[in-house]
Amino acid sequence: MGFVRDRTARMKVFSADAKDEIARAPFRPDCCPRAFLAAFAALGRRDLRSTKSGEATIRAPRVSIARAVLKAAAQVHIRAHAQDLDTRRARETHSVAVTLDVQTLAKRMHPARACCRRAWIRGAFLACGSVADPTRGYHLEFNARDDAAARAIAAGLAAVGVDAGISRRRKKPLAYVKGGQAVADLLAQMGATQTVLSLDDVRARRETKNSIRRTVNSEAANAARAGTASARQLEAATTLLHPARVHVLSAALREAARLRHAHPDLTLSELGRRARPVVTKSSMAYRLREIERLAHSRRR
Ligand SMILES: [Zn+2]
Repeated sequence: MGFVRDRTARMKVFSADAKDEIARAPFRPDCCPRAFLAAFAALGRRDLRSTKSGEATIRAPRVSIARAVLKAAAQVHIRAHAQDLDTRRARETHSVAVTLDVQTLAKRMHPARACCRRAWIRGAFLACGSVADPTRGYHLEFNARDDAAARAIAAGLAAVGVDAGISRRRKKPLAYVKGGQAVADLLAQMGATQTVLSLDDVRARRETKNSIRRTVNSEAANAARAGTASARQLEAATTLLHPARVHVLSAALREAARLRHAHPDLTLSELGRRARPVVTKSSMAYRLREIERLAHSRRR
């Protein structure tokens, strides 16, 4: 139980750090704040005790996000205010209700400029996204209010070149991105450089571990294969070196059979070097295959 809670806590910390970093990342002040605010207003959790017409009150899941929303609103002269933001109750981890004049925000979901498309995704992520701790897998998701919102988010991700899937958890729709490369790419586009670095760090460590595991496995497999080949050759050589059968071997094959018989553990190249005259690995392999073939036909 404690274990599960620890893992959940760690995942939340990673996601919260990513959000704080994205919230602080700057963007082009003249165009991008509108796209950012449009996504945040459309996809964030609405507070129902709102509000005057033309305004919406949206939950900013963290103080850093509320600050980012107010700053963006100020840059493009959109009226906005936050409740409790500057009081002592506003701890870093608290969610904050932000009221925003949404009337002047574009209704259309996906902006034209590349910079604004990234700002839109940033707003969407801060409104309803989370990213898994990379030690648990590479997964980033947006919890959408409804199917239309999930589709809009997937389209927004496609617009910045990131492949997204749509799924459901406990009947709630979500858009998700998975795989280390796609998650890192998206985080980088949202301005989360430090987060990408720590993700890459985990990926590099995991990649190193995997490649060590692959090497060890393939060395063991090669050794096992070589072992069984050598055992087969030894058995064939022993069969044919019997005085009653040795006459079927040519001089070259007889030498190869004797060498394998005397040195069961040597590789083909090493056996080839002991032959007189010396032969290559591939001709030693050919000779031993012939020996196996002859022994096989003898036994039948
Ligand atoms: Zn822009």
